[in-house]
Amino acid sequence: MNIILLGPPGAGKGTQARRLVDERNMIQLSTGDMLREARTSGTEMGQVVADVMDRGGLVTDEIVIGLIEEKLEQDHGGGFIFDGFPRTLRQADALGELLAKHGTTLDAVIEMQVDDSALVARIVARSTCGACGEVYNDLTKPQPTDGKCSKCGASDFKRRADDNEESLRNRLMEYYKKTSPLIGYYYAKGELKSIDGLGEIDAIAGQIRDILDKK
Ligand code: AMP
Repeated sequence: MNIILLGPPGAGKGTQARRLVDERNMIQLSTGDMLREARTSGTEMGQVVADVMDRGGLVTDEIVIGLIEEKLEQDHGGGFIFDGFPRTLRQADALGELLAKHGTTLDAVIEMQVDDSALVARIVARSTCGACGEVYNDLTKPQPTDGKCSKCGASDFKRRADDNEESLRNRLMEYYKKTSPLIGYYYAKGELKSIDGLGEIDAIAGQIRDILDKK
């Protein structure tokens, strides 16, 4: 089963994707994670990517489509979760073509709806474990008081360089200008399912489970 988690920055796509990896043996394909890795490569491309990301802009379609194309070559086990991809109509078309080339399709596009005021509060409060990527939030899921990640035990927590208010404003603008048209695109294709992305992580996971179990 292949699904897209669609929603603005801070909607909780990464958190839910990680749960699906644990529960359903799916593979999370996060272009944001791939790009964060690429920016540490020391190459010219890495530097360009870093500048764009820090400003909260979108990296070129060519680069991200290339990253996804490479990942689709691997064995897909329980299916792929596309997290943060596609973000433009061009990427959406390319994804459809790439899946067709591999003889597979999309099963659902899950739009996580969260209002903008909640996004800003969530993002400035978020941190991740530097070792395993577990996501924490000062408001909803604080880092353990013993200073150790509840998943892997490491004690190296990070905050993202682009999780600040100025970059976030740009990321939201990019979302509304370039990514939100995908809601209509997938609705017209009959693939869109919308859920309420506010509330408890478990409750949101339950809504996603209901959608996937009906497939
Ligand atoms: P994310 O971790 O999904 O919030 O992505 C972090 C940043 O990586 C974004 O603000 C963009 O600069 C870049 N990025 C991630 N995915 C894409 C994509 N599909 N297309 C263009 N840029 C992307």
